[in-house]
Amino acid sequence: MLPNVCSGGIKSFGALALIMSCCASTYARAQQSPAASDAASAKPGVPDIAPIGVPVAKFLDIPEAARGPRIDPSKGFRIEKLGEGLYLVTDSFYQSMFMVYETGVVVVDAPPSYAGKIGQAIASVTNKPVTHLIYSHAHIDHIGGAGTLGGHPIVIAQDETARLLRRAADPDRPLPTVTFAKSYTLKVGSQLLELSYPGNGHEPGNIQIYAPAQKTLMYVDVVFPGWIPFRRFGVAQDVPGYFQQVRDLDRHPFEKLVGGHVNRIGTHADVKLQIAFDDDIKAAVGAALKSEPFGPVPNSADAGNQWAVIADYTGRVARTCVATMTPRWKDRIAGFDTFIWDQCYAMEQSLRVD
Ligand SMILES: [Zn+2]
Repeated sequence: MLPNVCSGGIKSFGALALIMSCCASTYARAQQSPAASDAASAKPGVPDIAPIGVPVAKFLDIPEAARGPRIDPSKGFRIEKLGEGLYLVTDSFYQSMFMVYETGVVVVDAPPSYAGKIGQAIASVTNKPVTHLIYSHAHIDHIGGAGTLGGHPIVIAQDETARLLRRAADPDRPLPTVTFAKSYTLKVGSQLLELSYPGNGHEPGNIQIYAPAQKTLMYVDVVFPGWIPFRRFGVAQDVPGYFQQVRDLDRHPFEKLVGGHVNRIGTHADVKLQIAFDDDIKAAVGAALKSEPFGPVPNSADAGNQWAVIADYTGRVARTCVATMTPRWKDRIAGFDTFIWDQCYAMEQSLRVD
């Protein structure tokens, strides 16, 4: 079953738009010979998840396991105590933390979506000033609200984050005042945070921030508790590195994981779910890359179009990947239908070249 756009439900689109928006698999089948079409239909099945860019009437329901505590809409955020003096702040899209010590407060990340309310969140617990700000990584959606915190906190980040921020020259992301290469220990009063850099995965400079007394690890854009990762494995710049980092997380002694996104904090069960997803998609794509023939293009009129050969091949691989993953994962992980095509394309690209 395909989204209603394929049955001609959107009449205001012009003929070209309708053809463009009609699902890739229908289009591909129309281009194939009858024999090829029969062969395709004998495979695991054409995915019933709308390809990238195709509108859907309704996305899949969110499983209960992915729902976090409700946000009071009049406040627009909630805080959650993670341990002695340590708090999560979230608006259900983003997550940050703050840690209270004897004479001040350490803030970790300032997502612009609610950074203007971090002061209010802190004030609900303490009237101490913000003395330190830690950047998890350079991305603007996690630290672009830094300027709204006020004061002149010491800003701590990894060397690569400092390099990327110098290049960005963004006044909303002030340069760090303290940087480090591999690890950094922040001891403030009786509180402790251990910062470490596991190497590239999501983005160069993306660090782990661990509060050992509270057994809480903040590691952003790697595991999205209960949810399929944001597109292309959380926009991982190094997919094999990202896969290894998820695996390594399972051996970390944390009990609470602040992933930087979605409704709730995570646990080792969420990491294990992500590892199972990663293993499954890697196997599905690996098999499809072998079983699908590379070329020729279905229409001989495209014979001189080199990119068409790649687009046709990787399209078939991605369709097989989505068809394989759908029955196993669509009810197991929230938002499966939103980004599974992205993940399958990212996986085929990585397995072919990394
Ligand atoms: Zn990021």
